[in-house]
Amino acid sequence: MSENLMGRLAIKARQIRPGTARMLNVKQGQVIQIVDVQGKQVADFVAFNADDRAEYLSVAATRGMNANVMLQQGQTLYSNRRTPMLEISADTVGRHDTLFATCDPKRYEALGAPGHDNCRTALADALAEFGVAYDQVPDPVNWFMNVAIRQRGELEIREPLSEAGDQVQLTALMDLVVAVSACPQDLVPTNGAKPSDILIRIYREAPAAPIVETVAAEGATENAPLDGEPRDAPPIGAGVDEVAEPDAAGGTDAVAETETDPAIDRERVQPS
Ligand SMILES: [Zn+2]
Repeated sequence: MSENLMGRLAIKARQIRPGTARMLNVKQGQVIQIVDVQGKQVADFVAFNADDRAEYLSVAATRGMNANVMLQQGQTLYSNRRTPMLEISADTVGRHDTLFATCDPKRYEALGAPGHDNCRTALADALAEFGVAYDQVPDPVNWFMNVAIRQRGELEIREPLSEAGDQVQLTALMDLVVAVSACPQDLVPTNGAKPSDILIRIYREAPAAPIVETVAAEGATENAPLDGEPRDAPPIGAGVDEVAEPDAAGGTDAVAETETDPAIDRERVQPS
């Protein structure tokens, strides 16, 4: 776990199977963690202003403002109004794509696989309750997608560089509605030819003060200083249950999308 998650609580988790997508509400200051559970798996990501769906994460504005097409830790993701929406607060891979559209029915028809699961339909289904239709799904950031750019601008899709457990963390700079799909593309090297799960966790805002009362109430340690005494910050995860981790060894069929939901709510994050 990286430093900017220390002391934060994971408040939501969604395990996303290839060909499906989930929508999540994220408040300003919260952190979105996107984990490539088994490695070499692309996550298509879109985001909207929670109060105005006409404002959305723009890969064009983001490329321009950063003068970069692959994104790096520390960079900011901007909206179509050039409003800062998210900051890349951690990234264990450093290779992502902002150039390719979501996979969609036409893409699979062209590859000879009509009716194939696809990111665009999955994202539209996930965003329907927010009022975003199929034709309104913005071009995504494709986390972990590895696109080589040749000298004359030719694009070549290669296997992702991400390995099991690789992740990005995005700090929300405004209230957002985001949607994430696990790309089901298995006909080209996008996902290493073997699509697998993406795990999303949302962490609440960094605590404003040491979480002394929380620990005292949970009786974490017998020799903790008495109330009113200064004390060091407790170790992360002390005295609380472990957050459910994805079954990295299992196949995608082994982990149902909803299984992580009830167990993870409000549990303290565990060091890793
Ligand atoms: Zn896709």
